[in-house]
Amino acid sequence: MNKVQVVEAQGTVEPWKGFKDFTVKKKVIESEEIFTLYLEPTDGGKVVLPKAGQFIGIKVKSEDEEMKKVIRMYSLSMKPNEDYYRVSIKLVEGGKMTNYLLNNINEGDILEVTPPKGLFTLNKEKVDKPLILLGGGIGVTPVLSMLYDVVGTRDNVHFVYSLRNMKVECFLKEIKDYREKGLINANIFFTRPLENEVEGKDFDRKGRITKEWIAENLPLDGEFYFCGNKGFTELVQNSLLELGVEKDNIHFEFF
Ligand SMILES: Cc1cc2nc3c(=O)[nH]c(=O)nc-3n(C[C@H](O)[C@H](O)[C@H](O)COP(=O)(O)OP(=O)(O)OC[C@H]3O[C@@H](n4cnc5c(N)ncnc54)[C@H](O)[C@@H]3O)c2cc1C
Repeated sequence: MNKVQVVEAQGTVEPWKGFKDFTVKKKVIESEEIFTLYLEPTDGGKVVLPKAGQFIGIKVKSEDEEMKKVIRMYSLSMKPNEDYYRVSIKLVEGGKMTNYLLNNINEGDILEVTPPKGLFTLNKEKVDKPLILLGGGIGVTPVLSMLYDVVGTRDNVHFVYSLRNMKVECFLKEIKDYREKGLINANIFFTRPLENEVEGKDFDRKGRITKEWIAENLPLDGEFYFCGNKGFTELVQNSLLELGVEKDNIHFEFF
C-alpha cells in the first residue's frame, strides 16, 4: 500500500531528493525465507530520522536494464535512528527484487534508497492508553519498529505476532526476551507449526487470530496498529470494529 508519498525532516538531516547510495553493511539470514539488510549512507553521513512504521524505496545498480528500473518498498524494521536503516525481506517465489537482493547483493555492495515515507506511524503522545501492535507474517516489520520505539518507556504494550512457523520468522527471540523481562505482553501464533515445533515453547497458540481471541485477550480501549497481508488486516480490522473499537484507534497497513 503506497498511496501517500510523504517525505519530511524529523531529525537533523533533511530528506534527499529521489535516491541516494547506501552501502550494505551487514546481511543476515534470519530464517529460511527471510533475510535482513543493514544499510548505511555510502558518503558516511547521517540518515533522515524515520518515524516508526515508515518504509524506504530500494532499487539496485544492475547492468540489467530491466532490473535497474525495479523499485520496491520495504518497511524499516529497526528502532528509529539517524545512523542506519534496516530492512527485513521475505523471499517471494519468482519475485524480481527479493531474489536479486538475496542472490546478488552482499556486504559492501551499494543500493539506491529513498528517504523514509509513509503515514502508518506511531502516535507516541497517547501514552496513557494501552498500545496493541499486531504483525502478520513479514508485515511484522513496521510494528517491530514501533515496538523498539516504545519498549521500556511505557506500560501496557501488547505485541501479537502471527506467522506460519519458524521458517518465516524474524526477531522472534527479541520479542520473547522482552516478554521474559516483563516489558511487554506478547502472544505468538503459528498458523502451520512444523512437526518439531511445540505449543507453549516455540509458540503460544496454533492457528489464526480470531475475533473471540482478541475479545478475550486484548484491551479494547487501546490504540491498535497492525500490518500484514490483506487477509490478515481485514480480519483484524473487522474484528475490532465488530467488537466496538473506535475507528480512530485503528491504524493499519497491508502489503
Ligand atoms: C509500504 C510497503 C512496505 C513493505 N514492506 C516490506 C517488508 O518490510 N518486507 C518485505 O519482504 N516486503 C515488503 N513489502 C513488499 C515489497 O515491496 C515487494 O512487493 C516484495 O518484496 C516482492 O517484490 P519482488 O520484486 O521480489 O516481487 P515481484 O517481482 O513484484 O513479484 C510479486 C509477485 O508476483 C509474482 N509475479 C511476478 N511476475 C509475474 C508474472 N510475470 N506473472 C505472474 N506472476 C508474477 C511473483 O511470483 C510474486 O508472487 C512492502 C510493500 C509496501 C507497499
